[in-house]
Amino acid sequence: MRLDVRPILYSPGKSLPFDFEMDLSDLTLNGRKSVTRPVRVRGDAVNRADMVQLTMHISTLLSAACDRCGREFDLPKETEYFCILTEELHNDEDDDLVLLEDGAVDLSELARAALILDMDTRTLCKEDCKGLCPRCGADLNLGPCSCRKEVDPRLAALAKLLE
Ligand SMILES: [Zn+2]
Ligand SMILES: [Zn+2]
Repeated sequence: MRLDVRPILYSPGKSLPFDFEMDLSDLTLNGRKSVTRPVRVRGDAVNRADMVQLTMHISTLLSAACDRCGREFDLPKETEYFCILTEELHNDEDDDLVLLEDGAVDLSELARAALILDMDTRTLCKEDCKGLCPRCGADLNLGPCSCRKEVDPRLAALAKLLE
């Protein structure tokens, strides 16, 4: 989705609102395609004192999987993005500046990058998820598994010696 800001480029106080959906279902993050539903992008470009400010609100419902227990669940994701659109860059070290191409900006590309940057590196179904037993693979959130009762044979031998 390209937004042509030329109509407001030299008109202080004018704004261009936008609201669209995009498909990022091909995106693989942490080895997983989690953006299965449409991503909604809302916001506006506003000319404030001859400076065009772009604000985006990016939201979707991720198909997440817990890093500890593997349970799949829906995770609401919201990302805010802000930048200033400019016709020429004087200092390319300023992250808030985005260069216009023929007076337009690719909103989909910016929203996609902002969402990827804002993704959590770790996903848990709940803060205190107990995960899976490394031996039998049982979900420990459902209660202790049977291997907890088994005593390590080396420890059993030691216990016998101490008797
Ligand atoms: Zn979990
Ligand atoms: Zn177990």
